[in-house]
Amino acid sequence: MEIPFAESYRIKMVEPIHRSTREEREQWIKEAKYNLFKLSSKHVFIDLLTDSGTGAMSNRQWSAMMMGDESYAGAESYFELKEAIEKILGFPYFLPTHQGRAAENVLFSTIVKEGDYLPGNSHFDTTKGHIEYRKAHAVDCTISAAAQTELELPFKGEVDLEKLEKVLANNPKEKIPCVVLTVTNNTAGGQPVSMKNIRDVHNLCRKYDIPLLLDSARFAENAYFIKTREEGYADKSIKEIVREMFSYADMMTMSSKKDAIVNMGGFVAFKNEELWKRCQMFCIMNEGYITYGGMSGRDMAALAVGLDEGTQFDTLDTRIRQVQYLAAKLDEYGIPYQRPAGGHAIFLDAKKILPQLPREEFVAQTLGVELYLEAGIRGVEIGAILADRDPETKENRYPELELLRLAIPRRTYTNNHMDVIAAAVKNVYDRRESITKGYAITFEQPVMRHFTVELKKL
Ligand SMILES: *Cc1c(COP(=O)(O)O)cnc(C)c1O
Repeated sequence: MEIPFAESYRIKMVEPIHRSTREEREQWIKEAKYNLFKLSSKHVFIDLLTDSGTGAMSNRQWSAMMMGDESYAGAESYFELKEAIEKILGFPYFLPTHQGRAAENVLFSTIVKEGDYLPGNSHFDTTKGHIEYRKAHAVDCTISAAAQTELELPFKGEVDLEKLEKVLANNPKEKIPCVVLTVTNNTAGGQPVSMKNIRDVHNLCRKYDIPLLLDSARFAENAYFIKTREEGYADKSIKEIVREMFSYADMMTMSSKKDAIVNMGGFVAFKNEELWKRCQMFCIMNEGYITYGGMSGRDMAALAVGLDEGTQFDTLDTRIRQVQYLAAKLDEYGIPYQRPAGGHAIFLDAKKILPQLPREEFVAQTLGVELYLEAGIRGVEIGAILADRDPETKENRYPELELLRLAIPRRTYTNNHMDVIAAAVKNVYDRRESITKGYAITFEQPVMRHFTVELKKL
């Protein structure tokens, strides 16, 4: 008999989670104004809101925390992290920040000005927020196939080079501070970008003399997909692939809460010493001194270990196979989701599940509330609420896709939990025709409204 696959870790600390009744959940979600972000986590049974900062640290990471050096300047933990970033990612200069968006803030405060263009594949929501807040434009040049959820493509997060070149050719160089390549492409469903596409984007950037920024939260998952899907990489280690990916970038922003498996932290890294120096001012003003930025010493120590563990094949294999396990269950039940399954999450295709709902009633949000009511599972809307209003016309933007993301935290849940998720999705799917009303907004913030939006049931 073939020996089946099993996780490459065992568990030595557990955290209780609690089931609830449907009546309780109806009350709680109403009190939360039908915004899943506003739920108390104790009212959630399986929390798939995000895989950001919600993973389980390893024994090595916890012991590194005890060794954290909390010196204000020049802490040993800073140098451990510096060495890891240089060795694993190939960047000699970096600034620690409290998380990924803070890295964006430090970098974009320095290089982005009003009227600029930052083309790339789909920008992450905070990245887009930071660009648009500065009255610059995030131009999405993702391949159009990314919007067809049933299409099986190995690298569905790629940049359409023609679209990108149009932006680079039609705007003066001074108006394009950088190209932003997000790996994996979170907004398009956690879809990877091939090494070939990274290289081609790099070559276009060189041709027009524009720097390339890698938005790198899920860089290791991207490397895993290159190894398992792209010709010529099967025999390379994840670390070799990661080094090559970053060899094409001039700078990187990083949310360490994803593939580096820490609960909080981030950084912005540079190959260019001068740009690093220019960014220091904003780091000191907004984050902290340049050798700790937004992080305590113990967090930098855990991050240095996390970068190493997160780029081990076994860690990634265990993680991505769990996502694929859930995907296989959903296939069995005939549930439509963004295909193929992404690295960190399943993105349910809400428009296909609830075709009767008008887009003005927030289709993916409606599905998210239903799944919570069904079994206390919390996903997150990637649809019209997240897409926000057009900064100029103030009209609602309706994206091509209405997705409900079920993000799987790293090393946190077992495959029994995956079975519960799949069954709950199936139950909602089976009663989909009875879901005829969505939601309307009663309160929203001017930027990134999805976090605090309040809704009423129609
Ligand atoms: C999470 C993420 C960010 C923002 O990072 P935070 O740590 O949440 O602030 C930016 N870009 C991408 C691609 C991300 O996944």
